Amino acid sequence: MEHLIFVCPATGREIDSGVGSEIGTLLRIRQQNVRALCPACGAWHTWPVRDAFLAKAASHPLGADAHIA
Ligand SMILES: [Zn+2]
Repeated sequence: MEHLIFVCPATGREIDSGVGSEIGTLLRIRQQNVRALCPACGAWHTWPVRDAFLAKAASHPLGADAHIA
């Protein structure tokens, strides 16, 4: 299970959208958008799935994780 990490457009912080999916599913839905409540600024954001970073448990988003775009 991967977690989708997005960059908050208001604060520039990387946030965990709370949306988790398998990589195969992500590749199928990469044309779609994910809407999530941002824990950094408290607003709702909509991000294209293709802009997501993938974070696995116990790894940092800026580490060796793949960008699916
Ligand atoms: Zn935000």
